[in-house]
Amino acid sequence: MKEIHETTNHLSPTAYRLTPNLRHDFIVEEILQLFALPFSDLIFKAAEIHRANHNPNAVQISTLLSIKTGSCPENCKYCPQSAHYNTGLEKESLLEISKILDAANEAKKAGASRFCMGAAWRNLNERDVEKVCEIVDAVKKCGLETCMTLGMLTDSQSKRLKHAGLDYYNHNIDSSPEFYSEIISTRNFEDRLNTLKNVREAGLNVCSGGIVGMGEMRIDRAKMLIVLANLPKHPQSVPINMLVKVKGTPLENVEPLDQFEFIRTIAVARIMMPQSVVRLSAGREEMSEQTQALCFLAGANSIFYGEKLLTTGNPEMERDRKLFEKLGISGK
Ligand code: SF4
Repeated sequence: MKEIHETTNHLSPTAYRLTPNLRHDFIVEEILQLFALPFSDLIFKAAEIHRANHNPNAVQISTLLSIKTGSCPENCKYCPQSAHYNTGLEKESLLEISKILDAANEAKKAGASRFCMGAAWRNLNERDVEKVCEIVDAVKKCGLETCMTLGMLTDSQSKRLKHAGLDYYNHNIDSSPEFYSEIISTRNFEDRLNTLKNVREAGLNVCSGGIVGMGEMRIDRAKMLIVLANLPKHPQSVPINMLVKVKGTPLENVEPLDQFEFIRTIAVARIMMPQSVVRLSAGREEMSEQTQALCFLAGANSIFYGEKLLTTGNPEMERDRKLFEKLGISGK
């Protein structure tokens, strides 16, 4: 708890304006000060900034489909899809377009505006580029925005996906540069940043965030947000995931993160990246309605909706609908 309550706050009142010039020069000390604000002050500040930049009662809904599952050569310690761990996950090769379109149409009917597709690859292989472009084109024709997460991309692959009509590319940085190597050793942090650069320069919208609750310290959470906010352009979408502990992965027994600390992370992300969409992502199933409501108050304005979040559970749609009703939130 010491970590959480360690004080203090000497923030200048003008440091975080409500309608700010977007900043890309954050430093660790100021972000730690933000994290350490009294909870109500932090949430109030985040909520003010949220209201100045977004409709506070609207939450964007995305649906996520795994289009290629398991057997990934990477060793991300949190991931049931890694071939390095035995999690009993059923593997699936790249899905047929017809199956993907069925899922996309279902998602649209359920109210999703964006359809995210994930493939458990280290990087996009040249032989799959054509097929992936066809998928993008077909899903766009269903009237949905498209997002993909396919591992590392080269600059020419990024351009081809953009040309095919892809709207967003998801590539999370996962954690701080320092903590990254504790979690993954088959690639490095620089690789992540390179793909983000390729994606950004191709004109795709960037979706990039990370995972908290992997045993990292508050300073790692702060540094992760600093890397994201100090990119040449804030990611348009910033998913903040709470680790889902999967049996068989090296992180299955890691200490859980205090939920207030999770809410603080959402609030700090909102303050630093006022115009980005902050997504309450994996881990929602283990959160109470009250925690989720505090996350929305702190600036989260997107969720994944549906029964599956790649391979881990996600609260059922009906439960989400009821929660939105109770809170007067409209999905968009
Ligand atoms: S997180 Fe992605 S890259 Fe890492 S093991 Fe899982 S599927 Fe592979």
